[in-house]
Amino acid sequence: MSVNLRDYIASVPDFPEKGVTFRDISPLMADGVAYAQATDEIAAYAKKLGVEMIVGPEARGFIVGCPVAYKMGIGFAPARKKGKLPRPTVSASYGLEYGQSTLYLHQDAIKPGQRVLVTDDLLATGGTIAATIELVEALGGIVVGTAFLIELKDLKGRDKIKNYDMLALMDF
Ligand code: IMP
Repeated sequence: MSVNLRDYIASVPDFPEKGVTFRDISPLMADGVAYAQATDEIAAYAKKLGVEMIVGPEARGFIVGCPVAYKMGIGFAPARKKGKLPRPTVSASYGLEYGQSTLYLHQDAIKPGQRVLVTDDLLATGGTIAATIELVEALGGIVVGTAFLIELKDLKGRDKIKNYDMLALMDF
């Protein structure tokens, strides 16, 4: 029997600032059944696409991607913020509401031609995931799919990654 994953998302008004409703995935992660169900659904999607490697951005992309990688018996590579990865990297910058941020991936994280799934907890404007895709492609990886627990429909992130297959387990 499956659970309704929406019941495990806490909606927090006015966080991190007034007027914004934050969708908190902590209750989902805290529940073994809900977390396993979300992981299994993404793993089934990844299996269908013949995914060989998973890449997720710091930090909640790890929470989604790592258990899927374990379930599938494949690897996971973290896309990280500045100064975190110790060996040679590629980088991609993206716009935030105020200013810019940059993500990094180890140069040997992906083999050319490898079929990659990119994961994060939530798709908002799509900037974070677009930068993560750019990193994978810079290394010659093929992004065969993207997977999220949550899509925030109004922010139209889907338009930014319209050339890629996408799975979102819930939308708000
Ligand atoms: P985007 O780059 O605008 O698509 O924002 C997505 C990134 O911001 C993801 O890495 C999320 O973890 C984070 N994020 C934005 N809004 C929320 C939220 O309501 N809940 C949890 N994470 C969020």
